[in-house]
Amino acid sequence: MSTAKKTAQKRRQPRRTLTEPVIQPIPGESLTSWIGALAEQQGFEMKPLLRELHLDRLGGLSGAEMRLSDPVVRRMEKLTGIDAERLHAMTLARYAGNALPHLPLFSSDGVAVQQWHKGAWFHRSQARWCTKCLRGNDGPRWLLPWKLPWSFACVDHAVFMVTECQACWGIVDFRHDAPPERTCENWTDEGEWTYGLGEPCGFSLKMCQPVPVSDDSVLALQARVNAWLDGTPTHEDRQLVALAAVLIPLLSPSMVRRGDPLLRYAVRSPRGTSQRQRKGRRPWTDSLRVAAAVYAADRFLSYGYSASEVADWIVDLRLLDHRRTPWRMDVAEWAYGPSLRPNPFVEPLVHRGLIILGGWL
Ligand SMILES: [Zn+2]
Ligand SMILES: [Zn+2]
Repeated sequence: MSTAKKTAQKRRQPRRTLTEPVIQPIPGESLTSWIGALAEQQGFEMKPLLRELHLDRLGGLSGAEMRLSDPVVRRMEKLTGIDAERLHAMTLARYAGNALPHLPLFSSDGVAVQQWHKGAWFHRSQARWCTKCLRGNDGPRWLLPWKLPWSFACVDHAVFMVTECQACWGIVDFRHDAPPERTCENWTDEGEWTYGLGEPCGFSLKMCQPVPVSDDSVLALQARVNAWLDGTPTHEDRQLVALAAVLIPLLSPSMVRRGDPLLRYAVRSPRGTSQRQRKGRRPWTDSLRVAAAVYAADRFLSYGYSASEVADWIVDLRLLDHRRTPWRMDVAEWAYGPSLRPNPFVEPLVHRGLIILGGWL
């Protein structure tokens, strides 16, 4: 490449301003999705837009989606006219009081963020999505609660969240600055023989077929979990999520005997629960498994048993299903994970040897 060409490439693009009116965030949208939609609407490349918004620094967009710093908020308010409250609502910090405890105060604090990432229950760069929402009229917009394992179904469209690409069957990782019209970026072995290189899968994520929810109670349970996420839970909703959190790794088929057959299928599958070979999967990666845990938790709680009676019941049902391996919970996961301290259901399960605490992750 000639030197002149290189210099031209290096030269900064001329500063541009946004043309009013800017595209508005939709309810529940994530910051990365809205910024992607904004770039598209304004005809901006992602890089110069991030520079304009002062988001080209350390941690960039993924850090900003965790928690926005005050100077960045002021800058964004000034440029886009979207007020601070709406900007903060698009970041994970809104779940710091429930689903994501101990979220570091500064997303620039690398060590704290890394430590927190190890145990926190959320999908850092793994996508899960409702294809019907993505096909909606506003264009492909990605919602913030989809980053949490607690979103297992879309209440509006009565479907389970899609968690895998239906062309390559892998979990989909995405770049935070990818355009909202996301395609699967998993590497496949296509073309490997010819060129010695794989190719990205490229399947359009909104083309995936979602699995319909056939049991209305699953949607009612998702609505209760959403009330907890939105900060308006009843005491019963809190208990429901607390028990579901410990059940996710401990489920066995008998616990969902009367539920949707799909949930039973998910519980039989060892995906994510084998602690030796889980390849980036965690027990909460599969939305069907999380749905099954919430379903089972609701059943247990409907009998009005105490936490220790519930633990006895879990032991019995697991024995019935020949499940003998305890859940080894890492200290980081204990601190940042099941998110519901004090969780009344953990101790009786530790006492009975179903949960073992120790370094593992
Ligand atoms: Zn939907
Ligand atoms: Zn794929």
